[in-house]
Amino acid sequence: MRCPYCRHPEDRVIDSRPLESATLIRRRRVCGHCGKRFTTYERVESTPLMVIKNDNRREPFNRAKLRNGILHACEKRPISSDAIEKMVAEIEYELQDFVLEVPSREIGERTLKKLHELDPVAYVRFASVYKKFADLEAFLGELRKLKRRHQREHMKTKQNALEKEKWKLSHVDSPR
Ligand SMILES: [Zn+2]
Repeated sequence: MRCPYCRHPEDRVIDSRPLESATLIRRRRVCGHCGKRFTTYERVESTPLMVIKNDNRREPFNRAKLRNGILHACEKRPISSDAIEKMVAEIEYELQDFVLEVPSREIGERTLKKLHELDPVAYVRFASVYKKFADLEAFLGELRKLKRRHQREHMKTKQNALEKEKWKLSHVDSPR
């Protein structure tokens, strides 16, 4: 691995740790020449997967394309590079369920699901590209749906906290 700063070919690994999907390992390295630190990600290579596009054409799964789409959606959002790499690795890992071919819609839906958990703005950005909203109304509809879902989740969290409090109160100082 060449140093990204001075192109020196030798470095030392100072930290290695697997990310959640066990197929990805993150390594912190220090350049043997300029001493700057950089990070590499190592990933297990598997048989090339073909993606079935909407018009039925096939193309090899392209990790960089998936990553670029996610990066674009996450631009200027408070999302770490680690979180993005992890997401790409997780989607790629999940795609191993498909042995030879995977419909492109599967990749899109999985990405949407993960972005939805991560960041609402990134989610809507990705959705607007992925779902190619035909008009503004469809886009706003998606936004409203998202807002309602967030509200529901928020209510549920509040409800759970309330139940917990009630339970605590009813168990405090009660005779055994
Ligand atoms: Zn260097």
